[in-house]
Amino acid sequence: MLRITMQAGIKTMKKNRLPFSAISIDEKKQETIYLDSKNIFPDVGRQNTKRPISKKHTKSSTYQYSKKNYGQSRGNNRPFPNKNRYKNINENKISPPEEGVIRIIPLGGVEEIGKNMTAIEIGNDIIIIDAGMHFSNEDTPGVDYVIPNTTYLEKHKEKIRALIITHGHLDHIGGVPLVLSRIGNPPVYSRNLSILMMRKRQAEFPQLPTMKENIVKKDSVITCGKIKVKFFGVTHTIPDSMGIIIETKNGWIVTPGDYKLDQIDGIVSKEEEKEYSIFDRAKVLLLMTDSTNIENEGFSLPEIKVHQGLENLIKKIQGRIIIAAFASHITRLAHIVKAAEALGKKIAIDGRSMKTNIEVAIEAKLFTPKKGTIIPIEEANNYPPNKMVILMTGAQGEEFAALNRAANKSNAKFSLNKGDTIILSASIIPGNELQVQKMKD
Ligand SMILES: [Zn+2]
Repeated sequence: MLRITMQAGIKTMKKNRLPFSAISIDEKKQETIYLDSKNIFPDVGRQNTKRPISKKHTKSSTYQYSKKNYGQSRGNNRPFPNKNRYKNINENKISPPEEGVIRIIPLGGVEEIGKNMTAIEIGNDIIIIDAGMHFSNEDTPGVDYVIPNTTYLEKHKEKIRALIITHGHLDHIGGVPLVLSRIGNPPVYSRNLSILMMRKRQAEFPQLPTMKENIVKKDSVITCGKIKVKFFGVTHTIPDSMGIIIETKNGWIVTPGDYKLDQIDGIVSKEEEKEYSIFDRAKVLLLMTDSTNIENEGFSLPEIKVHQGLENLIKKIQGRIIIAAFASHITRLAHIVKAAEALGKKIAIDGRSMKTNIEVAIEAKLFTPKKGTIIPIEEANNYPPNKMVILMTGAQGEEFAALNRAANKSNAKFSLNKGDTIILSASIIPGNELQVQKMKD
């Protein structure tokens, strides 16, 4: 079995940006990797070629959006006028892949956290995996979020057979509505919860065409043009996450998406063993995978231990409990609600993203709280402290998240009381240490 891990380096060249402009464009060098099957398998034709996997640089840009454009319809359903679009002369030079060549184009998410998107071109078919976004940071003032550059795909719309989404996190689905409208609205495939999350996102852009959604199961097989695509279930912080297998005549191209192995002390669970057993006899041509915190030694704490820890705290603490967590961590949120309900406590939720995600989880029937278990945050003071658990956004000390607003008394709906216990149920993302400390103070 041959396994190759691909990682393309991206160097950012910063351009001077106007802090108040509606659109700011990042000029980026992005790599297109041509996976030439004839070179990897010398027995397949062209035996004398000894070139390694060739890399070809193309110029590429990143689209960034600000609130000024948000939700407004402009000509051709484009979120901003054509005249402002970045013209990329070099794009014209890219010719279609040669017969037998697989072209893989990482459009985002490589050597960065956020806006994951990869296109795979085989013959007359293009399949796109994920269409994420990332939020603005201090490098992108005046910009609300950034989506991948789709210029190449816009030029080859007629070849795009599918957009396949690995899971429902914003760095994988956040760009979907805007990307779809640019690339000819191809069919979208994903598992149930991810499709529900995308529907919510799509609803924020009512002027854009309706998404052609297709719900798949983890063992579904679909055909996109001439390409057969299969899936497999992976463990992540959001349920219904899946990996993607693209069958080629030289072997499988495998993308697990975001995943971790469900393990205790390094021993992988039986479910995972079973799920990954499809690879036992597979001929894998390429595995595309990456990892956050790869530099850290040891294993990450299994989610089951986090759940047990939280459950014990909810049991033990006498007063009111406030838990700040990631809204994206749906598996954990569902567990907290279930644990609190089992102990006869009420749950109030503060923070828009947290509320939305719990609504979607209930809609997807991941859990079904009893009527009256979840109460409006405004009523939190009507219950005895030992009967209340409050779930909030803001575990990273974000300036306008619910917990920070409660801490500095600018939260109109909710204020902290003496005797409340606050649990920050998230490790601090590197770089956020200072704002978390500020909030704690
Ligand atoms: Zn994720």
